[in-house]
Amino acid sequence: MGISQSTGIVDQRPDRMFQTLLAAYGPQSWWPAESVEETIIGAILTQNTSWKNVERALEVLRREEMMDVGRLSRIETEQLATFIRSSGYYNQKAKRLQNFCRRLKDEHGNLSQLATLSTQDLRDWLLDIHGIGKETADSILLYAFSRPVFVVDAYTIRIFSRHHLIKETSGYDQVQTYIHENLKPEAQTYNEFHALLVRTGKECCRRKHPRCENCPLTGDKARYNVQG
Ligand code: SF4
Repeated sequence: MGISQSTGIVDQRPDRMFQTLLAAYGPQSWWPAESVEETIIGAILTQNTSWKNVERALEVLRREEMMDVGRLSRIETEQLATFIRSSGYYNQKAKRLQNFCRRLKDEHGNLSQLATLSTQDLRDWLLDIHGIGKETADSILLYAFSRPVFVVDAYTIRIFSRHHLIKETSGYDQVQTYIHENLKPEAQTYNEFHALLVRTGKECCRRKHPRCENCPLTGDKARYNVQG
């Protein structure tokens, strides 16, 4: 369990929330990809679209034997864009994928070498790639490289703020630091918790009219006087 650097006090609520969701929903078994390369490609393609659309693009890339950093960096960008069309913003995403692949080849050679970087260095390197933001970089760190880095998304902020763990206006770094300080730094725990929060957000904690009566966290709601 992390100790808050600011107060030295551990807030048990994130862990309790995690345990409650895990007991209610069971393990979610993310990430649904077959290899490190595929996980990274999926993380880049899933920006602003559903996983279902990404799966169709991944299927085409598999069929075209393009699940390879070298081949992805050499293919014509326009051709790659047609392969990933189903993921939306395909021209932009084709460029992003190639930015990643080309810099990987030029600067580290291959994924095994990249994996030797420390978590901070790897994160800095990913964030330096044009088109890769914090959520994508952290998804790659967590799901492709099993680093204990929590992925913050809109569901996390909504659920945590409705339970008064953070402010609704909290930024990405603030929320991530709060979780890192208060939840055991284990990749498996962060992986599972993120998936459980996404499921809770989709099924119960909608932006408008949250379905608290069906939600596993409804007990917490009463405890913390949540404004639904
Ligand atoms: S109890 Fe209500 S506010 Fe809390 S996570 Fe569930 S739906 Fe959202």
